[in-house]
Amino acid sequence: MPMKLPIIKPITYISPTSLKQWKSCQYMLYLYRMAGMPYIEFESSMAAAIGTAVESYVAAYVSKTRGDNPHIKLQTLLDKIKMLDQDKLKEALDTSKIIANKLLEMNALLPLLEAGEVLIGREIYRHSPGPAILGIIDFLVDGIPLDFKCRGWNKIQKVSPYRGYGIIYKSTGGINNKPSTSIEETNPEWAAQLVFYNWLTERDDNQYKIWEICRFSSPDSAGTPAEYDFRLAIHDNRVSKAFSEELTKDCESMWESVTGLDIDVLPPEYSQWKCIPFHSPCIVADRCSAYRDHLDEEME
Ligand code: SF4
Repeated sequence: MPMKLPIIKPITYISPTSLKQWKSCQYMLYLYRMAGMPYIEFESSMAAAIGTAVESYVAAYVSKTRGDNPHIKLQTLLDKIKMLDQDKLKEALDTSKIIANKLLEMNALLPLLEAGEVLIGREIYRHSPGPAILGIIDFLVDGIPLDFKCRGWNKIQKVSPYRGYGIIYKSTGGINNKPSTSIEETNPEWAAQLVFYNWLTERDDNQYKIWEICRFSSPDSAGTPAEYDFRLAIHDNRVSKAFSEELTKDCESMWESVTGLDIDVLPPEYSQWKCIPFHSPCIVADRCSAYRDHLDEEME
């Protein structure tokens, strides 16, 4: 039976990440954010670290060249990367510098230099209408949210980040404008994030730009990975109204649940929790009684 859990730290706003957690497992959201336990830092993956670092180098360059956004400090931005392994961190930063310089060589940054207004790293809170939401928008270019992404960056994969990726992002040069598939089909998580940004900036057209850093490493005939073939896929589109309406409903349900302190703690086998059957325990699995019970059963 669902039961009320003690809320030590109430949720005061919804972010794209907390919505994702709530949809994945409400108990995870509770353990992670509401139970008053110490905050857990996620380690950045190589792809996430490269995405953040490229974005940081670009933000610092653009704000310096344009002479605006004086609050932007490169080191503060880079400090958002959480990597304990210093060799990996160095690899991510070195790779990102190369990519940022390539973007410059390809004149890919011109839209950011020539735009009428570029706002960088803005934290925006909206408390009405509807549930309170919060987000940090990397770039607002003439009012349109722009986010840097990097989906996969593994050294020895034949096709990065998954087979077929190169077909989706078929391009002949370094920049591929408007990949043919819509972002809500290829990556609903990104689409949800960009709809949030539209809400925060009070746009109702769900317009967005995503600059996706892609890498295709094709091995030679001997199977040795070649130098990476770097590309920039520019997604410049709108998320559909139907997707946005669905997201609105999800936010309203989550808000009703977390503010009504009505967290569902049904055992995993009866719920929608995605870790079943614990093939991929979540970041708070060591705090989860259901997961511990499962491990005990396995030991018996
Ligand atoms: S281990 Fe599974 S059931 Fe437990 S909190 Fe994490 S996702 Fe939920």
